[in-house]
Amino acid sequence: MNIKLALVPGDGIGPDVVQQAVRVLDKIGQVYNHHFEYETVLAGGAAIDVAGECLPKETIAVCKSSDAVLLGAVGGWKWDVLPGDQRPERALLGLRKELGLFANIRPAILFEELAEACPLKQEIVEGGMDLVVVRELTGGIYFGEKGFKQTDMGLAAYDVEQYAEEEVRRIAVVAFDMAMKRSRKLCSVDKANVLESSRLWRRVVNEVSKDYPEVTLEHMYVDNAAMQLVRNPKQFDVIVTSNIFGDILSDEASMITGSIGMLPSASLAQGNFGMYEPIHGSAPDIAGLNKANPMATILSAAMMLKYTFGLTIEAEAVEKAVKAILAKGYRTPDIMSPGSKPIGTKEAGDLILKEIT
Ligand code: NAD
Repeated sequence: MNIKLALVPGDGIGPDVVQQAVRVLDKIGQVYNHHFEYETVLAGGAAIDVAGECLPKETIAVCKSSDAVLLGAVGGWKWDVLPGDQRPERALLGLRKELGLFANIRPAILFEELAEACPLKQEIVEGGMDLVVVRELTGGIYFGEKGFKQTDMGLAAYDVEQYAEEEVRRIAVVAFDMAMKRSRKLCSVDKANVLESSRLWRRVVNEVSKDYPEVTLEHMYVDNAAMQLVRNPKQFDVIVTSNIFGDILSDEASMITGSIGMLPSASLAQGNFGMYEPIHGSAPDIAGLNKANPMATILSAAMMLKYTFGLTIEAEAVEKAVKAILAKGYRTPDIMSPGSKPIGTKEAGDLILKEIT
């Protein structure tokens, strides 16, 4: 396969970790006979410094003309003084919108080798945890009407949560398809006891479920879901939810794994196009110090192989290589435990490359 990728390394540790993911993709290319071609573009603080804006038109154009996008992270102390609408992080919202990335897929996997990093009691996560949050990414309250108005209680601010049937339907289809590939269990999270938008959400999810009779569908209120995630996370397999609920629940789920440097994510558009990125930020405290864990980005590249290009065997080869180095006791500083072998960003890349044969 010939694959054209847009690379958006971004800021902080973004370039450090994307570099290692590219090495891994090139090795996959050698072993499985694929050719990867890359075009690197600017976003975030790096783009502000060079082009005066966080998401230059050229970046959008290159991403749109590529088969997929691999992103590091954006943001950093240097740009924290800028007003909200000029900050590097705005590039993420812009990319999601411009590229039509309506489905955010965030797996939360507790690797057995890293069980001690989990903040929950061991008996709760015994045998590992492996769930996926499918979050709606371009609708709801983050993109709804917002503004200010005068009230008899003083100035009021408002943000509108709104979902249209089609927006719910397309994310529900992504989630049901995902459930079909996993354990055929789907939990839709809403607040239908209070919110009209949630009642519409629930009705549409129920309608879509008729096309997936093999999938067991459950509905759960978001407050209960937040509680169940720490009480018994193993009850979940695929969770589908709105933009704001997904933002919160996916962060909660990822914290259960205890290792922010390990978790990948995918943001998908209609068709196979997607943007792939680690869930962590730009970690300016360790940028350029060979301390960043590149595994979340490398696993994001594995998700890209699977979801955009259908290269399941290649994706599994990458996942197995990551697990193999953990099983051999190698640890970057963020997941270090007593008795393990310390490695840096580059060494992690070297060791993973060696496991792909
Ligand atoms: P962060 O995820 O960058 O860092 C939180 C902590 O985790 C830090 O101590 C950091 O050193 C550590 N860490 C993160 N990734 C790591 C990795 N791969 N290996 C080892 N340690 C790792 O979150 P933050 O400190 O809240 O944010 C820093 C900047 O990143 C901010 O400007 C923020 O807005 C931005 N941010 C960007 C994204 C994104 O680009 N998707 C996401 C979150 C935060």
